[in-house]
Amino acid sequence: MRHGLGFDIHRLVPGRPFVLGGLTFDHPRGPSGHSDGDVLLHALVDALLGAAALGDIGDHFPDTDPKWKGTAGEVFVKAALKLVAAKGWRPAQVDATVFLELPKLKKRKPELAAELARLLGIAKDCACVKAKTMEGLGAIGAGEAIAAQVLVVLEKAPASKKKTRK
Ligand code: MG
Repeated sequence: MRHGLGFDIHRLVPGRPFVLGGLTFDHPRGPSGHSDGDVLLHALVDALLGAAALGDIGDHFPDTDPKWKGTAGEVFVKAALKLVAAKGWRPAQVDATVFLELPKLKKRKPELAAELARLLGIAKDCACVKAKTMEGLGAIGAGEAIAAQVLVVLEKAPASKKKTRK
């Protein structure tokens, strides 16, 4: 087994859609960024890459490249999964914490966890998303930023059967 830790933080600014874990939330502010600013999926990508010792999201999808402008987090996750699979690994578990003041995630945490499970191709009971406020402290506490921390466990993928014709 391999373990990977990911972290990401983005500013929350007016006029941007609030995107988290591939879902959209009704909120007057959203994450700024070159891509969609989805901290949960960006931290997930870093966790996937880290577990396979493949570097970080900036190594593979630099924000200086116009190709990635406005890109949905799901695109990066799918690309990271391909890199991880090429190394012989597949996801087994994910555990995530989102740090934010508002909007309240309580009602949609199961939906977020289910979305991570779907993206990773793992069972729903192998995915967890938790939420923490910062008790009003710092930029996150002031509602000016959102951050996420993600742990991913990878397991050896079974050897793929060669498609040979006799
Ligand atoms: Mg990011």
